[in-house]
Amino acid sequence: MTAVRPLQGAYCAVCGEGLHIPMRLDAGGGSNDDVRCLLCQRIDPPFERAVAYGSYEGELRDLIHLLKFQQVRPAAKILGRMLAETMARLEQVMPVGKIAVVPVPLYAGKRAQRGFNQAEMITRAALKRISRPERFALCAGVLLRRRETGSQIGLTRHQRRQNLRGAFAAKDGTQIQKRDVLLIDDVLTTGTTASECARVLLRAGAARVWVATVARTLKIFDVIALPEIPAEEDWDEGPEGTDQRLRDQCLGDQCLRDQRLAGHG
Ligand SMILES: [Zn+2]
Repeated sequence: MTAVRPLQGAYCAVCGEGLHIPMRLDAGGGSNDDVRCLLCQRIDPPFERAVAYGSYEGELRDLIHLLKFQQVRPAAKILGRMLAETMARLEQVMPVGKIAVVPVPLYAGKRAQRGFNQAEMITRAALKRISRPERFALCAGVLLRRRETGSQIGLTRHQRRQNLRGAFAAKDGTQIQKRDVLLIDDVLTTGTTASECARVLLRAGAARVWVATVARTLKIFDVIALPEIPAEEDWDEGPEGTDQRLRDQCLGDQCLRDQRLAGHG
């Protein structure tokens, strides 16, 4: 796995998105603690910070696919080692106290089909080799995925939010009351799943939610140019119906989605 390297360069201090930033800002030896991407400058996501080990491409992507789609379980060990590094890095900036670790759940049918939840398997592998295991408590049963959400590929952020709305629920909030929760997933793409889970966890009593993933897709924002961000690029719920064009678009998509969901029973 020599080809898989941790992320290097400048990243949004909140969501981990890649940044093009000027030399002036980048001169501090890679320390850009306050630099935010355009989206996070505009609206705070429901999680404190999202960090990833590497970019979702090449061998790292292959490794995740081996585990998820070909059930090559030993891949979880390697991915777990990467996740452990990421969790250790994040743990240093998290408040003192026990951290509740919550893997993003799969829908029961999907889990049965695959035989395991890859996020939970990678989490367990990471916790076996993390430097300060006493800081973490695995709380795998906190979140529940109530339905299959289908492929998110090709959807706008707004459509993804619509697609995931109500998909997650807190099954048992007692383990996370007033605690910092570390949400774990294999890949972070737009952050929609992480945001939706974070909202549910906060509503269930979590003090704060943090996110760690093995990989993430990088769009690379430019923090110098400040173009208008499209309305669908939004972390938050936002006032519904403020944009007629978007609403029309979503109502159109609703029919398609309902059909797709109906297909999943
Ligand atoms: Zn950001």
